[in-house]
Amino acid sequence: MVSPDCELQLALDARRENNLYRQRKILQSAQGAQVQVDGQACIGFSSNDYLGFANHPALIAAFKDASDEYGVGSGASHLVSGHSAIHQALEEELAEFTGRPRALLFSTGYMANVGTIRAFIDSGDLVVQDQLNHASLLDGGFLSRAEFLRYPHQDLPTLDQILSTTDGKRKLLVTDGVFSMDGDLADVPTLVDIADRHDSWLMVDDAHGFGVLGANGRGIAEHFDMSVEQVPVLIGTLGKAFGTFGAFVAGSEALIETLIQFGRTYIYTTALPPAVAAATRVALTLVDSESWRRQKLHHLIARFQAGASQFGIPVLESITPIQPVLIGDDEKVMRISEYLLDKGFWVGAIRPPTVPRGSARLRITLNAEHDESDIDRLLDTLATALRECR
Ligand SMILES: *Cc1c(COP(=O)(O)O)cnc(C)c1O
Repeated sequence: MVSPDCELQLALDARRENNLYRQRKILQSAQGAQVQVDGQACIGFSSNDYLGFANHPALIAAFKDASDEYGVGSGASHLVSGHSAIHQALEEELAEFTGRPRALLFSTGYMANVGTIRAFIDSGDLVVQDQLNHASLLDGGFLSRAEFLRYPHQDLPTLDQILSTTDGKRKLLVTDGVFSMDGDLADVPTLVDIADRHDSWLMVDDAHGFGVLGANGRGIAEHFDMSVEQVPVLIGTLGKAFGTFGAFVAGSEALIETLIQFGRTYIYTTALPPAVAAATRVALTLVDSESWRRQKLHHLIARFQAGASQFGIPVLESITPIQPVLIGDDEKVMRISEYLLDKGFWVGAIRPPTVPRGSARLRITLNAEHDESDIDRLLDTLATALRECR
C-alpha cells in the first residue's frame, strides 16, 4: 500500500513556506470581551458574537431547560423524526422576525447556501455572484451544475452586462449582505433593480447583518427597507449575532416548500439540537428587549473608525462590527497579530485564499461586551504594532 502522506506533506510544506499555514489557537473560556487563549488572558476581537449572546445567562438558562425536556440530540433529520416543537416555534418566530411568510432552519449557514442554490437552479441555468461572496455561496455556485459567473467586488455595471449578454433559463443573482472579510454592505437597492430588469432572482446572505443592521436589528433588508418581493431569498445564520449555531432561509411559502422537498442539505442531515433552537428563540427576543446592545455596538464602531483615522491606521470604511485593517503581506500580518496577542489582544489574521492575494489583513470584530477603553487600548497598541512590525 502506498501511503498518501508523502504527497500530502509536499503541499503542507509549500503552504508553510508561503506563510499561509493555519494553526488553531485553543480557547479556554466562553466567548466574550475577556477570553483565555492558549493559557493567556486577553481581550477578544475576533469572534462574530457581535451582541454578546453566546454566553448570555438567559440563553444558557433556555438551553439547559430545553436539554432537560428534550435531551441533547435531535435524533434524526427534520423530515424523519427530528423536527421538534421547539424547532417549529423558532421557524415561526424567524418568519415574523424577518417579516417573511416563512422560514426554514438549516444545520449550518454553509449548508443553507449550498442547498438553496442547488435547489433553485440546474444545468442550463445561470448563477451570478460577487467575487468576494462567502466561500459557501461560491461552493454553492460550483455545485449547482448551472453556469456560474462572478463579477468583480461591487462592480455592478459588469454584473449588469453579464446578465444582459447571457441567457440562462433561470437566473439567480447571489450576494453577501455584509461582506464578511471587508465589512462593507452590498448595494442591495441597485441589485434589486438589476435583478428586476433581467428577470433574475435575488438571494442575499445576511449572516453578518441580522441583529446588527436596521433600526430594529432586522438586518440588511430592514436597513434598505426591502420587501420579500424585492429580496425573495434571504439567508441568515444563527452562529453570529444570535450567539448560537445553525442557519435559516426566509421567503415565500413556495420557496420554503421547495427547500423542504428538494433541498439536499436540508433533507439529508440531522436537525439542530432542540436546545440550540430554544436558546436562539431567546436571542430573538433579546434583540428587542436589550436593544442597548446594538446601540452600544454602533457607538463602539464609530469610536473605532474615528480613532483609527486619528492614528493613521489603514482600516477599511465600515459601519459594521467587521473592521478590517489592510496589511498586504502574509508574513507581516502574522507578526502583527502575534505582537497584539502578546500584549493581550486577540485579533484574527486573515490571509489568502480567504482573501485575495496581497490583501492579508487583520479582521478586528467588535462586540457589545467591549468597553470604550478596550477599543482605545487596542487602537493604541495597534498603532505601535504597525510602527514596530515591519
Ligand atoms: C459564517 C458565514 C456563513 C456560514 O455560516 P455557518 O453557520 O457558520 O456555516 C455563510 N455566509 C456568510 C456570509 C458567513 O459569514
